[in-house]
Amino acid sequence: MHTNVERELPTQEAAELLGLVRRIAREQLAPAASRYEADGVFPRDIFRTLGDVGLLGLPYPAEFGGAEQPFTVYLQVIEELASAWLSVALGVSVHTLSAHALANFGSTEQRQRFLPAMIGGELLGAYCLSEPGSGSDAAALVTRADRNGDSYRLSGTKAWITHGGVADFYTVMARTGEHRTKGISCFLVPVDTAGLSAGPPENKMGMRGSTTAQVLLDDAVVDAERLIGDEGDGFTIAMAALDAGRLGISACAVGLAQAAYDEAVAYAQTRRQFGHAIADFQGISFMIADMATSIEAARSLYLTAARRKDAGLGYSTHAAMAKLFATDMCMSVTTDAVQILGGAGYVQDFPAERYFREAKVLQIVEGTNQVQRLVIGRNAISPT
Ligand SMILES: Cc1cc2nc3c(=O)[nH]c(=O)nc-3n(C[C@H](O)[C@H](O)[C@H](O)COP(=O)(O)OP(=O)(O)OC[C@H]3O[C@@H](n4cnc5c(N)ncnc54)[C@H](O)[C@@H]3O)c2cc1C
Repeated sequence: MHTNVERELPTQEAAELLGLVRRIAREQLAPAASRYEADGVFPRDIFRTLGDVGLLGLPYPAEFGGAEQPFTVYLQVIEELASAWLSVALGVSVHTLSAHALANFGSTEQRQRFLPAMIGGELLGAYCLSEPGSGSDAAALVTRADRNGDSYRLSGTKAWITHGGVADFYTVMARTGEHRTKGISCFLVPVDTAGLSAGPPENKMGMRGSTTAQVLLDDAVVDAERLIGDEGDGFTIAMAALDAGRLGISACAVGLAQAAYDEAVAYAQTRRQFGHAIADFQGISFMIADMATSIEAARSLYLTAARRKDAGLGYSTHAAMAKLFATDMCMSVTTDAVQILGGAGYVQDFPAERYFREAKVLQIVEGTNQVQRLVIGRNAISPT
């Protein structure tokens, strides 16, 4: 059972878009999710379908082939997808993140040349910041990019890369200088670059349908025209992309929590103990009330951050708050869903077990929730 969440949408076009997404989510994603997740298969075919209907370039300008939708609309699309299949929603969010650098910091010529293909639906992107030795401390990255005439030679290992080995382009942060942050630059690396390869997929607890792998750069030669921004802009570019990406993760968390909640409510209405539906017991209905309230609060928080972004206001703190709150909420709601299903929640006959495993990763990716607190605390103590 899926609740039709009543959406706040600014235009008829957006309402139609959400209707289309809901149909694809219900008819194509939800029925396939459990099987692909159990088999650990990356659903490239599903991303082609989403690309064909324009879902891989939603917030980007129409002149480059995007759908030019406000972030409030784009995020509600991500939420709908996540309520059917988290790996796909997170994949769309990461793809969108991987195009952020070029769309926002590339020259007009670079955008005209590269962006239409990246957001047009055919190609899939990856965002490469983390390394084996630099996770939360992203500025400690050591992958090198050494200039040699009209090109750069990239060497190093990027870790935990969503779509590693299945992406068509890689947005890579690499070191061009020694300064911790100002020594980092951003490159757009196509998949057919000699010297670029991927390690084996990570054997993950959940989201096994989303491929995560190391990306290995072994003297990979990249044209200088694929440097985004100036040398040294990479850290700023990476952090700006993450602010937007964190809102995508927030929407993923709300969608996943909504799915777990819907399942728990349906189960509580049909499962009988002591001569009653378990939903009749206050101990269960109070849990359901708390789940409903926290999902709605998280939805409001990501929409507030998105409205600020759409209005051109600063939203970094709000994005961190939304990511922190929504993903902690999702862990709590999916845990409660397992509890409401009792023993049935602990086996794979129902998706509650999978939702619970999937929720955990959202507290880790795109800055752990400790890092979100660092961002919020820093901005609270010394506002910029
Ligand atoms: C499934 C998956 C997909 C991912 N996809 C991508 C991707 O596409 N691209 C990409 O670049 N990265 C990706 N990542 C990497 C992810 O962003 C990192 O895992 C994350 O930033 C944490 O880094 P780490 O794993 O090295 O943990 P660490 O940084 O080693 O942290 C370990 C623990 O210490 C805590 N900690 C660290 N520093 C502090 C501090 N100062 N104060 C308090 N606590 C602290 C952390 O919160 C955490 O609990 C992905 C990870 C996973 C699991």
